[in-house]
Amino acid sequence: MAFVSSSGRITRHVISRLRAGLPLIGNIRMINHRPNHNTEQLDKDFSGTRLGIKEITKNNSEDFLSRYDSIFLDCDGVLWRTDHVTPIPGIPAVMQKLRDLGKQILFVTNNSILSRDQWYQKYLKYDFDPGKMEDIFCVAYATAVYLRDVLKITGYVYNVGSVGMERELTLAGIKNMGAGEDPEKPSPYVKDLLNMTFRNDVQAVVIGFDEFFNYTKLYKAASYLTDPACHFVSASSIGFGTGVMIGPNRLQPFTGPIVSAVKTVSKREPILIGKPGYHMFECIKSTHPKIDTSRCLMIGDSITADVGFAKSTGMDSAFVLSGSGTFDHVKQNPHLVPDFYMDSLVELNYDS
Ligand SMILES: [Mg+2]
Repeated sequence: MAFVSSSGRITRHVISRLRAGLPLIGNIRMINHRPNHNTEQLDKDFSGTRLGIKEITKNNSEDFLSRYDSIFLDCDGVLWRTDHVTPIPGIPAVMQKLRDLGKQILFVTNNSILSRDQWYQKYLKYDFDPGKMEDIFCVAYATAVYLRDVLKITGYVYNVGSVGMERELTLAGIKNMGAGEDPEKPSPYVKDLLNMTFRNDVQAVVIGFDEFFNYTKLYKAASYLTDPACHFVSASSIGFGTGVMIGPNRLQPFTGPIVSAVKTVSKREPILIGKPGYHMFECIKSTHPKIDTSRCLMIGDSITADVGFAKSTGMDSAFVLSGSGTFDHVKQNPHLVPDFYMDSLVELNYDS
């Protein structure tokens, strides 16, 4: 007995047995036709909803899209897979479709590795039109804008982040140091630690994704933060961006654990810039002051970051299943139920 039809929809057999409280009989693996979704598929109903959330498909996406002028797109897990590399078939065509429809496309990502010009080049590499540079809102850029315009930093920033972050800080006119490998060798000895180099004009410690993060950087960041006047700014928040499974028994840490380590040692609370925080939206509004949130849609694969961002800004949200997010995350965050869901962004290409 098949539990899902050839189109991937759950069969009447399953629905009727579940409603009657009867066990399923047959090959249970057929339910798991899509990796990572597991038994969540059982929540899907004939009404085109799952956990009460309306599904968007090519059959209804034309009408759906007519409700929105501006489309906010998360990147990892939406425009390509969460490994940052594997393409999602059909993305170039659907992006062209959105352009042809005259939609305003804004890229909004918590990935702090790249600067805006690096994101621009990446979009070109994945074969779609990036539009204008000013429509790319990566968290490295948003962080630099916040330091320049809100905190009005005039001294140095200690950057526990990427070269992309370094580039955005520099473009914003902010003096900074710290990106890349720290030349001072980690040591547990007080004598060595006291001999390490420090500036006396550091006004902020910024945390982003930093593959060179180590004990020396933790020591320096925490030491700068002993000055209460030194700001503690995080591109990502502690509860989000913790890590993702990249293979069997392989868990890649993201920015969250680095923020968490600095927070633990310094006993300071960071200012959070990325989604779902409001600072990212303020950054967007400073470029697009006339944006009408009632005509905006946020599309992303993270319930906490993307749907949370939509909730905090008052726009609609669509959850895509092409990334790391699952319906289990919806169940774990009942205050962050998305307005819609779709298998992938490709569902918006209704003519194909
Ligand atoms: Mg994502």
